[in-house]
Amino acid sequence: MQPWQDKSLDETREKFRKFSQEQLAGEGDAWRQRDRDREFSAERWLKCCEMGVLGMSMKKEYGGLGMPYGHTIAAIEGMGEACHDTGFFFAMSSQISGIQLALQTSGTEDLKKKWLPDLISGKHFACLGFTEDTAGSDVFSTQTEAKPVEGGFVINGQKSFTTNSLDSTCCLVFARTANNRSPFDFTAFMVDMSWDGVSHGQAFEKATLRTCSMGRVDFKDVFVPKDHIIGSVGSGLNVLKYSIGWERVMLMGIILGPMGRVLEETIERVKTREQFGKPIGKYQQMSSKVAEMIMRRRVSRTMVYDLCGQLTAANGAIGNYLQDVAIAKLYVTENWIQFMLDATQIWGGRGVCHDWSIQQDMRDALSSTIWAGTSETLRNTIAKIVGVG
Ligand SMILES: Cc1cc2nc3c(=O)[nH]c(=O)nc-3n(C[C@H](O)[C@H](O)[C@H](O)COP(=O)(O)OP(=O)(O)OC[C@H]3O[C@@H](n4cnc5c(N)ncnc54)[C@H](O)[C@@H]3O)c2cc1C
Repeated sequence: MQPWQDKSLDETREKFRKFSQEQLAGEGDAWRQRDRDREFSAERWLKCCEMGVLGMSMKKEYGGLGMPYGHTIAAIEGMGEACHDTGFFFAMSSQISGIQLALQTSGTEDLKKKWLPDLISGKHFACLGFTEDTAGSDVFSTQTEAKPVEGGFVINGQKSFTTNSLDSTCCLVFARTANNRSPFDFTAFMVDMSWDGVSHGQAFEKATLRTCSMGRVDFKDVFVPKDHIIGSVGSGLNVLKYSIGWERVMLMGIILGPMGRVLEETIERVKTREQFGKPIGKYQQMSSKVAEMIMRRRVSRTMVYDLCGQLTAANGAIGNYLQDVAIAKLYVTENWIQFMLDATQIWGGRGVCHDWSIQQDMRDALSSTIWAGTSETLRNTIAKIVGVG
């Protein structure tokens, strides 16, 4: 049996679909105002924490439920089917993967005990800072610097394009600790946003995933005690590999939900919208698009749940699966965009007006080939693993 055929995953998806319908979605087209206002709701975040979403795949000793990774994906998929706030689920999956799972993989026991229970319960809310204005795909250009001092390091610099930047209470940040043009020049730190010198910087108004914030995080002479290093001095790139690796898996949940919802709505649409005296679904050019949408969703789900099953069986050893992870992220995100282009075409004028939700899903899909590694850098990674490029 394939992991995605596991009935318990469907039960989780259904349970969270219902929860999302009742507790998150709101009435009618409430999604529209939230998208317009770029609303991130701390209250709804806490409801998700109470439902155990943030700790589902985390170890029990840190306040988690210790469930297989596929259940977190299934919960996010179910919630995204019933509620349009894909940005909100992006914020959630980003914290679970980029911060919590990376910390669980690479942090010291003390750090895990200090931060993970509070992240899972909603007492803390985290962001992940690696991108800078001059360091996008090329993390080697990182300029944020951490200089050793008595008892720890002092960080100076600025992170950019940081998801959750406005609302976060802590940050997993990558800084340069050496200048040797070597992979060992970087170190990861866990920083409390209430510490002196850390501030939420300029917010960006993005066109995509609008129900979570994104912007800059500023560091000015921020003292970080040495027990807040994740991994060891010089191991930052390795920690980043886990952070981004987990993001490439767990963020796929935010895609599967909208795919299910849009497919359901689009099938209904082609059956009921009549032109030239019959439903548009009767025209082969429309039915082919629906067939392709079904195929894209099916293959994406299969890939994601299969990968989660493999990672669960391997006890979360994501370092051994980096090529599979890159392939899944590349394939699923590029498919999502094509899936949404087909949906937009089927919905005609209604596909590009703010009064209907298809345009929001299209905008949400567009950024997926940029975050957590662009499609181009993923192709580089996939080829490099076999010594090409
Ligand atoms: C919605 C969203 C959320 C994000 N959240 C976070 C976050 O939480 N934390 C964080 O640190 N960052 C975050 N980012 C930033 C994201 O990681 C970067 O946008 C991404 O790494 C690309 O960097 P860039 O935008 O500077 O593009 P650039 O690196 O400038 O790339 C521009 C273009 O050049 C291409 N390119 C670059 N180098 C190569 C190469 N070697 N070969 C081929 N093509 C190349 C790229 O693929 C891309 O098409 C987020 C971005 C988005 C859109």
